[in-house]
Amino acid sequence: MITGIGSLVTNDPGHGTGPLGLLTDAAVVIDGDRVAWVGPAAQAPAADERFDADGRALLPGFVDSHAHLVFAGDRTAEFNARMSGQAYSAGGIRTTVAATRAASDAELEANLAGFVREALRQGTTTIECKSGYGLTVEDEARALRIAAKHTPETTYLGAHIVAPEYAEDPAGYVDLVTGEMLDACAPHARWVDVFCEKGAFDGDQARAVLTAGIERGLTPRVHANQLTYGPGVQLAVELGAASADHCTHLTDEDVAALAGSATVATLLPGAEFSTRAEYPSGRRLLDAGAVVALSTDCNPGSSFTSSMAFCIAVAVREMGMTPDEAVWAATAGGAHALRRSDVGTIAIGARADLLLLDAPSHVHLAYRPGVPLTAAVWRAGVREV
Ligand SMILES: [Zn+2]
Repeated sequence: MITGIGSLVTNDPGHGTGPLGLLTDAAVVIDGDRVAWVGPAAQAPAADERFDADGRALLPGFVDSHAHLVFAGDRTAEFNARMSGQAYSAGGIRTTVAATRAASDAELEANLAGFVREALRQGTTTIECKSGYGLTVEDEARALRIAAKHTPETTYLGAHIVAPEYAEDPAGYVDLVTGEMLDACAPHARWVDVFCEKGAFDGDQARAVLTAGIERGLTPRVHANQLTYGPGVQLAVELGAASADHCTHLTDEDVAALAGSATVATLLPGAEFSTRAEYPSGRRLLDAGAVVALSTDCNPGSSFTSSMAFCIAVAVREMGMTPDEAVWAATAGGAHALRRSDVGTIAIGARADLLLLDAPSHVHLAYRPGVPLTAAVWRAGVREV
């Protein structure tokens, strides 16, 4: 039993006040890997072990629904050049593709495990992971094989960019992604994704990739409308994607389509931060009634952060979101984007994924940007940090 919780975010509006379902002076009982009881500390049942939160805030572990963690190599120089005035384009991915292909399985897995651990230390207890830096049948399949050892949320992103070998034959590459590569990758993936963008894949190509994935039992999610206006969001909604990710350049029709659908708008402020680009408007999407998630987009090129707290702080400062909305988006929002009901909430029966802050309130995640606030992390009932 964790007791003495000064402020508890349950994300269960039936259980406390506001959309976050806030409780004060609360306790949470863990049994095995699940939450067994939630409520006022004064009414808590007996428990064989007690942990005193000492008035601090407890919230669900972060759900990071968008990350690219199977890669090798380093792009410090590219970041440095960009921050010295050069523009971002999708082509920088090729640098990481070359380094990833050259790396051994053990190197890739050690890298990935390091990032999962790094995220966990900062309170992330569920993390999605995409392929997309192999771009051959073998390299994409091994990326997903390795990722699947560390998370069930694996995403086939063979359509990240056109593989360099197919630079003169993008249609041939789409055939590979929807054919032989899909056959090799589908057994290791839950999701299919595509980078629908100028310089990557257009609407027709993206549709072909997602439709082929759906036919193989994968559920779509889409890199949509990041660098320019485009068809990605509409396609995501039309195909029933779990999530349209980035959503930086949206028309009113795009916003309305998201608001009228079950497709989550996943905002990735680390990408705009790290490319010195204009942020998406969380306020506009929320006011329209869309479900919004926040995620890191952790990758070596355009957003090399694993910090959900950083994303919350930026969303509040730059994207018109309230602290409550941003914390919800980083926990329950991410769970929606992954169609998970067992995470992103602290309710009876949910997985016991819990983040204890060195702070009296979840608002401190935005109020104290850049300050490490992780006091303890439980994942599936096990104290990890
Ligand atoms: Zn991404």
